[in-house]
Amino acid sequence: MTSTSRAWLKEHNTLHVMHPMQDPKALQDNPPLIIESGDGVHITDIDGRRFIDCQGGLWCVNAGYGRREIIDAVTRQMEQLPYYSLFPGSTNAPSIALSTRLAEIAAEEGMVKASFGLGGSDAVESALKIARQYWKLEGQPQKFKFISLYNGYHGLNFGGMSACGGVAWKSSYEPLMPGFFQVEGPHLYRNPFTNDPEELAEICAQLMERQIEMQGPDTVAAIIAEPVQGAGGVIVPPASYWPRLRQIADKYNILLIADEVITGLGRSGSLFGSRGWGVKPDIMCLAKGISSGYVPLSATLVNARVAKAWDRDVGFTSVYMHGYTYSGHPVACAAGLAAIEIVVRENLADNARIVGDYFLQRLQELKDKHRAIGDVRGKGLMLAIELVKDRESKDPFGPQDAYPIAISEGCVNQGVMIRTIVNKLIISPPLTFTKDHVDEVVDVLDRTFTANPW
Ligand code: PMP
Repeated sequence: MTSTSRAWLKEHNTLHVMHPMQDPKALQDNPPLIIESGDGVHITDIDGRRFIDCQGGLWCVNAGYGRREIIDAVTRQMEQLPYYSLFPGSTNAPSIALSTRLAEIAAEEGMVKASFGLGGSDAVESALKIARQYWKLEGQPQKFKFISLYNGYHGLNFGGMSACGGVAWKSSYEPLMPGFFQVEGPHLYRNPFTNDPEELAEICAQLMERQIEMQGPDTVAAIIAEPVQGAGGVIVPPASYWPRLRQIADKYNILLIADEVITGLGRSGSLFGSRGWGVKPDIMCLAKGISSGYVPLSATLVNARVAKAWDRDVGFTSVYMHGYTYSGHPVACAAGLAAIEIVVRENLADNARIVGDYFLQRLQELKDKHRAIGDVRGKGLMLAIELVKDRESKDPFGPQDAYPIAISEGCVNQGVMIRTIVNKLIISPPLTFTKDHVDEVVDVLDRTFTANPW
């Protein structure tokens, strides 16, 4: 690429692209890297700089870049049939094959059917609508409320955004959807209650119960939560929390929705995050890793209890009045089938667990050396380094503070693509990552913290 065309891209990006989660004015001074190609766990930008991709795209390129079998599957499907709809009167073969494959790989969780969309926000929106319709079909239309967790992230469509547990994601777009409530989830590093994980899980479980009782259990449709909170800062709950959520949902006759958009398809060290906690949700939201990010795709899976509600003959309300032109898009489903095969065949969930454990241990060593690191945490290949001004008070760096950006830029300048969410460095590489890659990244982090002492 010539320097003129590089300059053209940079200029026109600022002029014409609305970038998610960014102040357009800031783009001028802080232009993004323009990524041009990828191979394995590496990406290269238009200036020819190569990086180890610690973001996995955006927590999504689970199988890594350049996987021939996904590319071939997509190409074959495009040649044979680029599009046909699932709306009344037609369907296509890849959507049938993918829903069957999803039911196979999530058989342990009891999932039987899939509703397709194009990304995580669709997966969540579909889950919320399915839960509301489920209760209408069950003859309890007053069960329409949702309870989610502080720091939870459920995408940015109106339903999912209303379930989000952070004000920054919502305030510009209020008023939100009615019927959404949040409670404290177990955040070991930052909570006003206790440092004991199991005690914390129990306190938070009881807060969930109190909220349900306060709302009235016969008005609550579902609890929605992430098995490991991602965008909120990789918050790993104690092992007893998700089993308690299942118990609570059963006790009050409420559905449990697992938002597995990040944790699903291996990232959290088991094929699904719920499986890692030994829990069977009623509804599971999948996106990102389902196609390894190669094409937009999501699936909302439901178990037999939920699916059966539609068996009743209750007239018009039993129409599933939800879906998009591209629900079950044959090219996306072909990509999904190929991507899932790689994750399953190469045991990428196991690799995520083993390499993730090693990564966490190495990050712990960094924490012992560098004062600005307040906490390191993670599960599988989703990890975070939380930066603080003071370890005792845990005073976090804010959005205006330059220090976290100085660290992430220092890493980028040494060939490691790593992202900050305010004061957290987020690590979510392809699941093909090795211990050697970890050592390379930790060396760069170590050098960067040493060059930027706090
Ligand atoms: N749910 C969770 C748990 C997510 O992490 C995300 C995205 N990071 C979403 C939903 C929304 O996904 P998308 O950005 O693909 O709409």
